[in-house]
Amino acid sequence: MSERKALVLLSGGQDSTTCLAWALERYAHVETVAFDYRQRHSIELQQRLAVRTALKTLRVDWAPKLGDDHLLDLAVLGEISSTALTDDRAIEMQANGLPNTFVPGRNLLFLTLAAALAYRRGLGVLVGGMCETDFSGYPDCRDSTIKSQQATLTLGLDMPITIETPLMWLDKAATWGLAAELGGKDLVHLVVEHTHTCYLGERGTRHAWGYGCGSCPACQLRRNGWERYAELEAAK
Ligand code: ZN
Repeated sequence: MSERKALVLLSGGQDSTTCLAWALERYAHVETVAFDYRQRHSIELQQRLAVRTALKTLRVDWAPKLGDDHLLDLAVLGEISSTALTDDRAIEMQANGLPNTFVPGRNLLFLTLAAALAYRRGLGVLVGGMCETDFSGYPDCRDSTIKSQQATLTLGLDMPITIETPLMWLDKAATWGLAAELGGKDLVHLVVEHTHTCYLGERGTRHAWGYGCGSCPACQLRRNGWERYAELEAAK
């Protein structure tokens, strides 16, 4: 286990929750951060606290390592971007091939602010759920963007910053598999029960893969990954 300390970008979704478990398995001390940029719904922000509580109960060896949580106000991001994540409008593809859920530069801002917080608190590792594999086409989730930002932050802060993205090359089925590896069936159950992914903020119906509307792109991705994961498990 590394003696380094980590800061996990925890939105309360499946990916960032799996990243938090990954970090708790590796680092001596782990803090979490999230950003309130006036998302259309605040369910994810609420669920992240449920996730933290449930993870502490799940593993007694993780509980003492899980440190403070930070919620940073990023209302300015909602002011400068008009997207289907922040405004009440339909999710659709834009002419440039990106879905209109894309908030330009969002991850660049998140990582910069996370690094500023990490600097103050002596945390050398940032952990995020960015992923190229189930690719929505978000250019700030690409591995090359992350590597470049890691170099920029290390130079600009004059402090070695490592950005870990454990999901970068995993598809959604493999992300479920990683949760199973890290914390067994109990962690998979925790992800199903407590994390929130649905773009529409729907939490009325409980499916095998968790809560959500079942039809928005985020729900489709989560459901398809779950079904593939279940197939792979059944074939073992
Ligand atoms: Zn949905």
